[in-house]
Amino acid sequence: MPDTDRPDLTSLAAAGPIAADGRLPLIGLDKAEMTALAVDMGEKPYRGTQLFQWIYSKGARTFEDMTDVSKEFRTRLADTFTLERPKIAQEQLSEDGTRKWLHAFADGQKAEAVLIPEDDRGTLCISSQVGCTLTCRFCHTGTQRLVRNLTPGEILAQIMVARDALGEWPTPKDDSRRLTNIVLMGMGEPLYNFESVKKAMQIVMTGDGISVSRHRITLSTSGVVPEIARCGEELRVNLAISLHAANDDVRSQIMPINKKYPLKELMEACRTYPGVSNARRITFEYVMLKDINDSEADARALVALVKDVHCKFNLIPFNPWPGTPYECSDRKTIERFQEVMTSAGLTCPIRTPRGRDILAACGQLKTDSEKLSAKERRVQAEEAWAEKEAQLVL
Ligand code: SF4
Repeated sequence: MPDTDRPDLTSLAAAGPIAADGRLPLIGLDKAEMTALAVDMGEKPYRGTQLFQWIYSKGARTFEDMTDVSKEFRTRLADTFTLERPKIAQEQLSEDGTRKWLHAFADGQKAEAVLIPEDDRGTLCISSQVGCTLTCRFCHTGTQRLVRNLTPGEILAQIMVARDALGEWPTPKDDSRRLTNIVLMGMGEPLYNFESVKKAMQIVMTGDGISVSRHRITLSTSGVVPEIARCGEELRVNLAISLHAANDDVRSQIMPINKKYPLKELMEACRTYPGVSNARRITFEYVMLKDINDSEADARALVALVKDVHCKFNLIPFNPWPGTPYECSDRKTIERFQEVMTSAGLTCPIRTPRGRDILAACGQLKTDSEKLSAKERRVQAEEAWAEKEAQLVL
């Protein structure tokens, strides 16, 4: 290969694991990087924009598809790079239409994405890590050790696979899209992998690419306080907080990260989240756990806690998973809780659980497929929590 054909591969190393055949992934590069790559390969800069649009707007699966790019350049690209999506290790369809994909990346690591179709929108919940460092007690992923962060390309690929499945290439106009919203609420804590999440979402938001507006992207965090402001300043997407308790005692018990970043600090970060206003409120996610956080007194304490935060709530009936120590609050209790909140003027819908039958509902994601009894899973979960927390020094 002459020198002009040899691209600077340093920026590509971060895009994702190298494919089994040794080629490098292009999914995960932004427009500036694709332009630099084209120039490195002796092409005009506009070829980078063409590549970007073929990949992210038209959903090209091979370089052969890029009909307005010279055959010679396409061949050189195909020799070194790949547009391969992750393999789909498993795909499940719930009776309510929810779809779950278990993605297997080039190094064999796996993470899940869930598409939740509704009448007026389609929300894709994507993962940011394989496993998770944290140990939220109600969350199935929390029983899985952190394996690694996902790369920008792997985060993007989850969206592209969903678009492939829906046949939504080229990027349709907003009003005809079925995949309209993206939530970073799958496996992992996105603020512990912020650089990759940021890059992936910046590519997603680019107008001549996947083109999803920042107003339709929500990053959900367990409350990594020092990173919250950055998310607002650098990404400007909607923020959701996994709150789940109205006081530090209960929150630290079910979300040990609260010992590190207690509610006072978390509420301050929410009050001052860049761009927050009554028109752009923070969403507090609140999972209803029987006899843990579901009393009327809890609801009143919650109202007091968020009194000067622009916010809305989602009450989430707990979605059980094998080995969980918790039960879901009964419907009456949830409705009473909701009444206290709404009478205080808070928007507080009860979320309809989706995809429960395929373990695709909130907090149910986990990639292992071992066949264990509920008791064995409980023991396994407790061991994993203890081990992770010993390493974490919360
Ligand atoms: S809720 Fe999120 S941050 Fe907490 S353990 Fe589960 S995946 Fe990790």
